[in-house]
Amino acid sequence: MADKRKPRGPYYGAVLLGGDAPGGRIGAGRLSAQVAAADRADCRWEAHSPPLPEGSGCSFQFPEVVPLNIGGAHFTTRLSTLRRYEDTMLAAMFSGRHYIPTDAEGRYFIDRDGTHFGDVLNFLRSGDLPPRERVRAVHKEAQYYAIGPLLEQLENVQPLKGEKVRQAFLGLMPYYKDHLERIVEIARLRAVQRKARFAKLKVCVFKEEMPITPYECPLLNSLRFERSESDGQLFEHHCEVDVSFGPWEAVADVYDLLHCLVTDLAAQGLTVDHQCIGVCDKHLVNHYYCKRPIYEFKITWW
Ligand SMILES: [Zn+2]
Repeated sequence: MADKRKPRGPYYGAVLLGGDAPGGRIGAGRLSAQVAAADRADCRWEAHSPPLPEGSGCSFQFPEVVPLNIGGAHFTTRLSTLRRYEDTMLAAMFSGRHYIPTDAEGRYFIDRDGTHFGDVLNFLRSGDLPPRERVRAVHKEAQYYAIGPLLEQLENVQPLKGEKVRQAFLGLMPYYKDHLERIVEIARLRAVQRKARFAKLKVCVFKEEMPITPYECPLLNSLRFERSESDGQLFEHHCEVDVSFGPWEAVADVYDLLHCLVTDLAAQGLTVDHQCIGVCDKHLVNHYYCKRPIYEFKITWW
């Protein structure tokens, strides 16, 4: 027997199989794990293509050598290559449980840009990884086709490995993405309102929650480490800026965060200049002044 799930009903182009199908010669324990994995992959694929109607012992049969048309790009591969890893969308698509449309030449058609599908196939064929400049693009394809082993290996080479290290730092600031979006939105509104080519924003980036002024007031310095909640309120303060980042506890400093901001804005195609324009001079309590550094970001739109 092949598949413990209910047989699916007749469908256009379906080929009747006599109760046996590829992958059928396996033990019962592995079968249930395999069915669960296939179900997960099915769920992903079902967003694109409905499964065969239930009720009869019908399934699609694919040729041993499969001609493919991925958004107009032609590929040819073995069926076993497409089914290399069971818990993937490709394996689900070519499991026989789904109808895959064909083009005029009989190639199985997937309506997706096929630019990097060759790299995906090469991984399934031989485990080869793409050259560094294509790693990000192929990672996106691996996500679409839900190919876990490829995702895992790509995330272990540059530039994605470094990106994981960077994200470990940015993970300290759960608001990072929202604030980044705010920078872009404020810069857009400001430029549109003023009919300007660029917009300027004030961004506060501070690593420490409050400045230390031991020379001026050593006693207050100790508050920083053993302060009660009411002490904390004395220091509660929002600088008069558009967006604030901080505080965080890490080796990475203000310049590292600025690097992240500029990199991520540049990745959105924005031209960004920034410079420190001073510190917040708001008086907090006793000898304490805010002193958080304020940067002016200039975002040029065109
Ligand atoms: Zn301030």
